[in-house]
Amino acid sequence: MDYKKIVGDPKVVIVGAGFVGTTLAYSLLIHGLASHIAIIDVNKERAEGEVMDLNHGLPFAQPVKIWSGEYSDCEDADIIVIAVDKGQRIEQSRLELGEGNFEILKQIVPRITEYNKEGILLVVTNPLDVMTYAVLKLSGFPKSRVLGSGTILDTARLRYLLGEYLQVDPRNVHAYIIGEHGDSEVPIWSLANVAGIHLKDYCPMFQIPYNPEYMNDLFLKVRNAGYEIIRRKGRTNYAVALGLTKIVESILRDENAVVTVSTFLEDYHGVSDICLSVPVILNKTGIKEIVKLPINEREKADFQRSALIVKKVAESLKL
Ligand code: NAD
Repeated sequence: MDYKKIVGDPKVVIVGAGFVGTTLAYSLLIHGLASHIAIIDVNKERAEGEVMDLNHGLPFAQPVKIWSGEYSDCEDADIIVIAVDKGQRIEQSRLELGEGNFEILKQIVPRITEYNKEGILLVVTNPLDVMTYAVLKLSGFPKSRVLGSGTILDTARLRYLLGEYLQVDPRNVHAYIIGEHGDSEVPIWSLANVAGIHLKDYCPMFQIPYNPEYMNDLFLKVRNAGYEIIRRKGRTNYAVALGLTKIVESILRDENAVVTVSTFLEDYHGVSDICLSVPVILNKTGIKEIVKLPINEREKADFQRSALIVKKVAESLKL
């Protein structure tokens, strides 16, 4: 489709017209964030069908051009979202998915970078941290312009569950999950707070029990949430798409927002040369700063263990 954007118009290309990619397109449409959205998929018919369906909603939404695209559409894109997948099976852990999806990345990343050298690459494909690292290597882009959605989702899940427990708006719960987007992720309880008050002090103020064991159960619910949802409905798409929307918004609106995303680390509490999630400051240039959390010794050790697990998979893919 020949949709030429005017310089400055925000354009997002989504590669992968599956559940996540199209739910993101739907969310971007509703939020009115991008004026141009191209969706690319190896299954052209699927992309076309999704685009037709999305376009039929335009009379109820804000103006946006959405079309089933080609890699040449990446040319003037601000953000290219990589949401491809070879076909996830319930019994596979995120890390086991590596090989198949790495093969796809080897095909598509050079096609993207053939047309775009200035944009921001946002990875959603699992295993997220290894795939983000792979995209960084395959693209040759600077580390500030390659990121993965990472634990923005896990952090949101933790904030939601804590919000329910504390009876506080989850947007006012400040708690982070860092490390792998997967089984070795690390909750940072030492810094979790509401209104600047640590949970162990906040809870008694409102006669809410603060019990580390209960908090750990709550974290296990977060850690297993993806598996539990996939067991019931086959995939996860809504929350991750809203997390991606927040990332896209932070970039397009130059927000300097603090979000937990997967990024290339250099000596972050002893972890280097791998992508993992930590809080970053995100704006139109991509990752402006990495925020080094003052975590405790146990959290540091857990974070380093998470890094080793992700590194092992990256090494097995010869990355
Ligand atoms: P899906 O199977 O619905 O869609 C994947 C799409 O990729 C399909 O339409 C397929 O045709 C397309 N595709 C495959 N090979 C391609 C290629 N070479 N070029 C272009 N398109 C290609 O999957 P989904 O549910 O949308 O999930 C997408 C990815 O996001 C998966 O890896 C999934 O595990 C991951 N995911 C990540 C998070 C997160 O928080 N990071 C959350 C949910 C899902």
